[in-house]
Amino acid sequence: MKEYDYLIVGAGLFGSVFAHEAKKKGKKCLIIDKRNHIAGNVYTETIEGINVHKYGAHIFHTSNKEIWDYVNSFVEFNRFTNSPIANYKGKLYNLPFNMNTFHQLWGVITPEEAMAKIEEQRSEYAHITEPKNLEEQALVLGGKDIYEKLIKGYTEKQWGRPATEIPSFIIRRLPFRFTYDNNYFKDIYQGIPIGGYTKLVEKLVEGVEIRLNINYFENKEELDALAEKVVYTGKIDEFFNFEFGELDYRSLHFENEIIDTPNYQGNAVINYTDKDVPYTRIIEHKHFEFGTQEKTYVTKEYPHEFSKDNESYYPINDDKNQEIFEKYQAKSAQYNNVIFGGRLAEYKYYDMHQVIEKALETVAKEL
Ligand code: FAD
Ligand code: UDP
Repeated sequence: MKEYDYLIVGAGLFGSVFAHEAKKKGKKCLIIDKRNHIAGNVYTETIEGINVHKYGAHIFHTSNKEIWDYVNSFVEFNRFTNSPIANYKGKLYNLPFNMNTFHQLWGVITPEEAMAKIEEQRSEYAHITEPKNLEEQALVLGGKDIYEKLIKGYTEKQWGRPATEIPSFIIRRLPFRFTYDNNYFKDIYQGIPIGGYTKLVEKLVEGVEIRLNINYFENKEELDALAEKVVYTGKIDEFFNFEFGELDYRSLHFENEIIDTPNYQGNAVINYTDKDVPYTRIIEHKHFEFGTQEKTYVTKEYPHEFSKDNESYYPINDDKNQEIFEKYQAKSAQYNNVIFGGRLAEYKYYDMHQVIEKALETVAKEL
């Protein structure tokens, strides 16, 4: 008999939900994380009384009532609605693409006028029946003006490659609608945990043993010996010592500043869609929780090449990487004592609600 039933590598949402549910079923878990804090990429830290999203803006949204009720059972969520604004060469546009945006772009007022304008814009690309990449997909969806002012610059900065080399599914995340509705997400439920995401994860891992500042690979044998099974939420290529090659990721670099003003930009998120501005967005964290502090905390988000010294934020699910991933996935299926889960181990562009859903499904199958 080993000391723990599960060794959980990673104190992010996947690991924490798994640990919570396993504990409920009487299992003993040990969570380790190489970082010096829990919560993975949803980690928030209180600075100047503001809950700062340390790894980029996180807005919780889902249409799955079970998941919404689940997270709300640990911490109360506020009614924040994400309504980012795009700044293109000093001119502001509402996002996602909706009647406000169409009015700002073309002066149209009714949905009928907007649809006619978009039809005219798209007609040039009617020959593209099956969009092969993000550029084609964007042109087919909304035509040239939207693509050039609001998509191309942002996308190419974000992904560090031409939009013709980026998979089309990424842009299909964004809604297109003919109402004056600036809600970025289509989901029924949306909000931010009051007090920050760290509070949510603290509640999830209550009563579970956690060891921080421990890299699994530096102590693998010793750690494996402690538990019957491993739940691994780190990078899948690293688990297999990169034997089929390294997977690509997109990284980010954050430039943070405390500014002595109560309100710097009037919105939580402003995207800079012009390629000449080096950052993609500026986040003013207090607005996620309608903060009224005297000072403000802002973060400029710069996309960054990925290397071993940077965090791997976004998987790049193009054909080349997908092929490599599938080799790792096939190999991982042979490991009966290891459960692979989460954004890095599954190499998927998962949102928080999807990771939680996946973790709950995994525990249900397991226990
Ligand atoms: P992670 O949070 O990455 O956790 C994995 C943990 O494993 C990390 O803490 C890591 O340190 C640890 N680890 C890795 N390797 C080792 C090792 N060898 N040893 C020890 N520990 C290890 N989702 C939304 O729903 N809404 C949003 O608005 C949103 N915005 C986002 C913005 C950005 C910039 C990014 C990058 C993501 C965003 N997401 C958003 C997605 C969200 O962050 C993820 O879905 C979620 O955090 C994934 O949880 P996870 O547990 O899979 O991974
Ligand atoms: N996007 C864009 N312009 C914007 C915002 C987003 O072209 O102003 C594109 C970009 O390619 C981005 C994708 O839409 O990668 C998905 O955007 P989302 O805001 O969902 O990205 P995330 O929050 O996951 O970084």
